[in-house]
Amino acid sequence: MSLFFRPSFHHFLSVRLLGTAAPRTLNGKHLESSSFQGGDACPVALSFEDPSAFRVKSFGELLRALGVFRLCSVPILVNNCGKLMSFARSLLGKRGFSLILRPTVYAQFVAGETEGEIAVAMEKMSSLGLRPMLAVPIEEDLGESTGERRYNDNLEAMLECVQISHSNAWTTDPMMQLKVTALLSPELCVKLTSLLSKEKYDLDDVVRAMDGEPINFPGLTESENMHFLCGLQRLNKVGEASVSKVRVLVDAEYTYMNPALSLVTMAMMKKFNQKGAWIWNTYQCYLKESRLLLLDAISQSVDQSFYLGVKLVRGAYMDKERKLAKQEGRPDPVHQSWEDTNDSYNGNLDIMLDLISLHPHCYRIIVATHNEQSVRHAVSRMGGLGIDKHAGSVCFGQLLGMCDHVSLTLAQQGYSVYKSVPYGSVDDTVPYLVRRAQENRTVLQGIRKERDLLRQELRRRLREGLTGGREGRGK
Ligand SMILES: Cc1cc2nc3c(=O)[nH]c(=O)nc-3n(C[C@H](O)[C@H](O)[C@H](O)COP(=O)(O)OP(=O)(O)OC[C@H]3O[C@@H](n4cnc5c(N)ncnc54)[C@H](O)[C@@H]3O)c2cc1C
Repeated sequence: MSLFFRPSFHHFLSVRLLGTAAPRTLNGKHLESSSFQGGDACPVALSFEDPSAFRVKSFGELLRALGVFRLCSVPILVNNCGKLMSFARSLLGKRGFSLILRPTVYAQFVAGETEGEIAVAMEKMSSLGLRPMLAVPIEEDLGESTGERRYNDNLEAMLECVQISHSNAWTTDPMMQLKVTALLSPELCVKLTSLLSKEKYDLDDVVRAMDGEPINFPGLTESENMHFLCGLQRLNKVGEASVSKVRVLVDAEYTYMNPALSLVTMAMMKKFNQKGAWIWNTYQCYLKESRLLLLDAISQSVDQSFYLGVKLVRGAYMDKERKLAKQEGRPDPVHQSWEDTNDSYNGNLDIMLDLISLHPHCYRIIVATHNEQSVRHAVSRMGGLGIDKHAGSVCFGQLLGMCDHVSLTLAQQGYSVYKSVPYGSVDDTVPYLVRRAQENRTVLQGIRKERDLLRQELRRRLREGLTGGREGRGK
């Protein structure tokens, strides 16, 4: 990567570290105010009000979506859905549980299990101008570790995901998501996180270990070190299979393991992002420290000379983060309010967009949100900074089954929009489904709007059915 942007980067960083209230001047460019609430002079009218986005859905799909969102609005169900699902699983058995979940919550948020089912979902998406981003939602949390063999099986699933993403003509610039805890035990990630708080590991050592060198990492027992080396080699295989073909977006998980996930992701970036951003990291803006983490990543990408890909999200684990902090008597790592998270999201977004406007080939971002104001903000800022929506350095992301009105409106305006498409068995996707249900409680206006639009579309079809289509034709 060229070194020409070093001076402007350090100037940039110092401006940013002065605080968000500082006047924004970058290399002589005066940047417009980026207040979240107002001032977004959107170059195009992104109204997100058009229920016709749902015309592509069948009657059954409309009813299912409304039913699932309705269920997700019942606090007692959502708060206990993890427990309820495991109770139902033990009561009904695998088959019975699957029979209930498959046509409902699973069908809403998951593409399917077989390659055929996935292909149907992907083709439908492509025909609507949306780009599928496959995700294998295999993950582990503390106490769920499964052993080396299972991680090797998970590696096969990840490699298959690379292959499915790449080998079909569903999209021009394919992306997939990767969960590190599918390949490396959460216990080790937690241990590494605590070690990293005292002593940094050298990124070059991690890269060499990925290449198969038997490095001894300080602080780990022999068996932990062995598992770390195996995990790094699994990640290396994913990197080797995907580089120059599929962009791999590594998910962020819990704060008690994120530093370890970032370490291995940065090592992957250092190794595989020499000619382009093939490996990306995720930044959760609900975290108070997200600004520092993002600036640190930018700084590392400059110092270590690699391209940086950023998935910007608000964060999906708020309830558990808060509960744990309370239990352990630590300060809450999550911003106090939704508004503070919004400010954090838009501030981090501005940092990336400003950088991209200066060095469009070195940085990439996926604005991964269902939040209409953040999307409008990004579009407005791209216009203001002259960022080409077709160049690929900025794209948008939403989850399958959520806020199709946002995705379709953006795609109609010519932006690159990816839909995160999880696939897998009912059993493997349960933690993912639990999170989606919980999220639908915290994803505030987006889902309410989606429900209203779904209802409007349903009413339109019922009216059309009653009037024999005369009303629709008259319009
Ligand atoms: C393509 C894609 C990839 C994703 N990958 C990841 C990932 O790797 N890791 C991950 O953690 N999440 C990931 N997510 C989920 C994401 O973090 C959010 O949970 C989800 O998108 C909802 O946020 P929003 O910006 O869409 O919606 P909004 O409705 O605008 O915001 C809801 C979010 O705001 C935050 N929030 C809500 N209430 C409060 C409050 N009282 N105080 C502080 N903050 C609050 C929470 O983060 C909540 O999820 C991903 C999402 C997408 C679309």
